[in-house]
Amino acid sequence: MSHSTITPQQITVLGSTGSIGVSTLDVIARHPDRFRVFALTAQRQVERLLAQAIQFHPRYLVMVETQAAADLRQRLAAAGLADIEVLSGAAALVEVAADSAVDTVMAAIVGAAGLPPVFAAATCGKRILLANKEALVVAGDLLMQAVRRHGATLLPIDSEHNAIFQSMPSNFATGLDAVGVSTILLTASGGPFRNTPLAELATVTVEQAVAHPNWSMGRKISVDSATMMNKGLELIEACWLFNATPEQIEVVIHPESVIHSLVQYIDGSVLAQLGNPDMRTPIAHALAWPSRMLSGVKSLNLFEVAALHFSRPDYQRFPALSLCCNAMRQGGTTPTILNAANEIAVAAFLQRQISFTTISAMIDATLQRMSGVAVESLEQLLAVDGEARHLTTSLLASKPA
Ligand code: NAD
Ligand code: MG
Repeated sequence: MSHSTITPQQITVLGSTGSIGVSTLDVIARHPDRFRVFALTAQRQVERLLAQAIQFHPRYLVMVETQAAADLRQRLAAAGLADIEVLSGAAALVEVAADSAVDTVMAAIVGAAGLPPVFAAATCGKRILLANKEALVVAGDLLMQAVRRHGATLLPIDSEHNAIFQSMPSNFATGLDAVGVSTILLTASGGPFRNTPLAELATVTVEQAVAHPNWSMGRKISVDSATMMNKGLELIEACWLFNATPEQIEVVIHPESVIHSLVQYIDGSVLAQLGNPDMRTPIAHALAWPSRMLSGVKSLNLFEVAALHFSRPDYQRFPALSLCCNAMRQGGTTPTILNAANEIAVAAFLQRQISFTTISAMIDATLQRMSGVAVESLEQLLAVDGEARHLTTSLLASKPA
């Protein structure tokens, strides 16, 4: 370990008990000289947040649910850690993201619930490590504006976007044409149902849907990967991050998940980032950027990989992909509606209330009944999100069994 004289970065990890949150803390623990944990947050997982508090001793813990927060306070006191303050409620997420003591915010909450603290971090000019792709899908325009206006730094954690970022010239914000980029090639594993006979998709189980072939992730993103909604959300995310149109992005099925995405230039060059499928690589990249540091990921063995495969996505099998392309083309609040409908439909699938193929059908039905309007404010977007959730929920309730 180097004896650097840099002051450690103060970091807030939003969603620290989740898959990305745990991987982030794994990387941070390898570099005690570079990072201090300022705050950790979770929705309701008392045991896991307590264990993290014991290991990292943050100044604040946020437990969104009040009862879980009360339990956590008792457990902390019993562990002799009553000096760590426990906050509760969604507003506390914004507080620990915006606090003037914080340098870096890891945004690893799942869903639109993560948007308010990400937006606050942008407005406060923080360095934001963005895993929470839904924040960009719901509020891409406003969020990118806030980042630029307040001098925030937005670094993508999503493996594909991190790969694209690494393969782009540093001045890519001036526009893809200006830097000689012709196409972004967004890779996708195709998920667990890439080769499942179409007729069987309606009856696949929750267990089959969340068993991703290459990545271990939270349940919501695992279902999104199975419907390929995840790739659709990522297409929207890439449009905002890299100032691209949907036409400048091509989805490429690459089942091995070794190439994490590519950037094609007008001179025929194609640059890519490769690695083992382990989120600690993009996390360490963004934590250390613009330098590099150890992540705990073993290096890629090309002789073990031996062969890589590529094919075009099947839009009939994965209607969610087209829904996302169309929503991005329509713009305004349409992607906000799409995201809300997806969150409700995926939760209903995970609770075994609807079939796998009904997920995309419900999103489509919601989009047909609610039209997008021009984006005005964060408050408006949160209201549209609530309205779309309400609509999808009522459509699910009225659906014949
Ligand atoms: P996860 O379900 O494992 O963890 C989610 C975290 O968010 C938990 O800490 C949970 O307590 C918290 N949370 C959930 N609902 C909340 C709410 N309403 N309010 C406040 N906190 C809440 O999810 P994950 O797989 O770690 O994914 C997190 C984000 O990162 C998602 O947006 C996902 O798309 C993105 N992402 C994940 C991966 C991955 O490998 N897991 C890869 C790329 C992108
Ligand atoms: Mg991804």
